[in-house]
Amino acid sequence: MDLKQYITIVEDWPKPGIKFKDITTLMDNGEAYKYATDQIVEYAREKKIDLVVGPEARGFIIGCPVAYSLGVGFAPVRKEGKLPRETVKVNYGLEYGKDILTIHKDAIKPGQRVLITDDLLATGGTIDATIKLVEELGGVVAGIAFLIELTYLDGRKKLDDYDILTLMQY
Ligand code: 5GP
Repeated sequence: MDLKQYITIVEDWPKPGIKFKDITTLMDNGEAYKYATDQIVEYAREKKIDLVVGPEARGFIIGCPVAYSLGVGFAPVRKEGKLPRETVKVNYGLEYGKDILTIHKDAIKPGQRVLITDDLLATGGTIDATIKLVEELGGVVAGIAFLIELTYLDGRKKLDDYDILTLMQY
């Protein structure tokens, strides 16, 4: 299936000059959403995944159906102040300014094999921060899956040591 036909490119959003890849038109379509999910599940099966971890909010949309299908849990990574119990935190650079991502301290058991999911790989900053959280808790990042990779931003370079699946490239 050609998944790109379900992605809507929105010009000049959220800022002039940006061509935003809108995945909601893929999620809207049951066949396309299932196909994309199944591709990631197939990739994850041979990696003996114990847990799926994804950053808010689109990482949940990709990761939760994969976790359900694998029969494993899902742990959310969220912006600071959103998780109710004790967390570990990581600072990460955004294009403008900084932000903090957090995960519950007991979300991952040492040695658990983790699949990280998100909708899109751009500079790799979000996933780099997510990897730091997983590894701080003793998790092993066994794979990382995205719907979309913006190849011209070279995010893969930042994630050099990890196994990455992307279903669409721009
Ligand atoms: P990075 O941290 O790799 O630079 O940026 C990736 C993050 O920004 C992802 O969490 C993703 O949701 C969001 N993002 C950046 N550009 C786009 C885009 O064009 N479309 C979508 N759907 N998300 C984007």
